[in-house]
Amino acid sequence: MSNQNNEEFLVQVKNCRQSYPKDNNSDLIVLDDVNLNLKSGEIVGLLGRSGSGKSTLLRIISGLLPPTSGEVLWKGKQLSGPAPGIAMVFQSFALFPWLTVQDNVQLGLEAKGTPRKQQEELAEDAIDLIGLGGYEKAYPKELSGGMRQRVGLARALVVHPDLLLMDEPFSALDVLTAENLRTDLIKLWVEKKLPVQSILIVTHSIEEAVLMCDRLLIFSSNPGKVVHELNVTFPHPRNREDPAFRQLVDRIYTLMTHREKVPPVPDNPASVKSVAEGFTAIPLLPMNLMTGMAETLMAAPYHGKADLPKLAATLQLELDDLLPIGEALQTLNFADMAEGDITLTDLGKQFVDSEIEDRKSIFRQGVIKNVPLIRAIRNVLDERWNHRASAERFRDELEDTMSPDYARQTLSTIIGWARYAEIFDFDEESDQFFLDEDDKTIR
Ligand code: ADP
Ligand code: MG
Repeated sequence: MSNQNNEEFLVQVKNCRQSYPKDNNSDLIVLDDVNLNLKSGEIVGLLGRSGSGKSTLLRIISGLLPPTSGEVLWKGKQLSGPAPGIAMVFQSFALFPWLTVQDNVQLGLEAKGTPRKQQEELAEDAIDLIGLGGYEKAYPKELSGGMRQRVGLARALVVHPDLLLMDEPFSALDVLTAENLRTDLIKLWVEKKLPVQSILIVTHSIEEAVLMCDRLLIFSSNPGKVVHELNVTFPHPRNREDPAFRQLVDRIYTLMTHREKVPPVPDNPASVKSVAEGFTAIPLLPMNLMTGMAETLMAAPYHGKADLPKLAATLQLELDDLLPIGEALQTLNFADMAEGDITLTDLGKQFVDSEIEDRKSIFRQGVIKNVPLIRAIRNVLDERWNHRASAERFRDELEDTMSPDYARQTLSTIIGWARYAEIFDFDEESDQFFLDEDDKTIR
């Protein structure tokens, strides 16, 4: 019985883990115990934040990257290199500028050793299918961005792959062009004109995922892992304005904005001197973005509460831009995110309504309480006779839990916050944190 079931699956990803060595003998875990199955006849969306490991997982499924552990079965057999039935479409298509559309598409067939004549026919079919008929002899530079994406799509389709992997294929296009290409692709899929059996599309756009997919896998970050699975049963063509559609989008926003756990304030905050003691990743955001968002939320038409998808659309922000800002406000208890809405708390409203000095004071209390890293640095500075401390040690500690690059960005972010709140300052030259006269008087 289970054997029969297994044969239905095109792809089975089993307990896949991917990690990269870091310099200090520890590993950066990008994917942790990922499990997923793909069947023939479905479009599956992989939805996750930027850096969550989506592209890494696609490369593993395509056979380009062997997982650190775990396995991928392709039609029931272990995958051990690029499989002929799998084609991949990337965010930006690597078209060869000196080749015509026809030759760029035919390239997909070179590797297969298809006879020349047949190559030409297949390429013409793929070009027609994707709406580029008449442009066979054109060169990439003569085409718009949207048309170039179509060439990339035709190149993937020309081999009639069983599985089409798409890595954020529309995210480099303007809104209208992306919508057209998406609509055309879904129409071809519904009419069963696409020469593929299954599509796995990676995206960070919730709306795109709900517009296109039969099934959604929601990915967590740090490390990447499938944490939710949803079926989307609306018939095509789907209507974004349909209340059920909106409701599902809101629900996914909720699933993707779960509150980061903030460690409780220890009984004796002054005792915290180590970053590792209760460190949580902070959104890497400059102050003015957080203040700006709080002010926007407070003003008309929101008056303290906004629907996240609508806010994203109005501000022309991507989910990846909007969510970290919401999370930062949430970390400080300035806002709450739930049910696809973001709502300013009383403290958040008070912050917006205050003059600069009071704002600083509210912000200072918020970060001291909720950002353990800032608390730890301040505690160390209070204890030193000269109120100075090298940043090196904190950077090292951070690097135990994150990449050196992320550690550096984290430090520069908290320096911005701490300067604004007059908690401590930083001297680039000596690479030291220090308290200036104003900082010292404030606790
Ligand atoms: P996504 O596609 O979801 O944005 P990626 O799969 O591109 O995420 O990357 C996930 C994480 O893995 C990132 O933190 C990235 O820096 C890291 N990463 C990817 N490839 C490598 C590599 N070859 N060496 C080290 N780290 C890597
Ligand atoms: Mg990616």
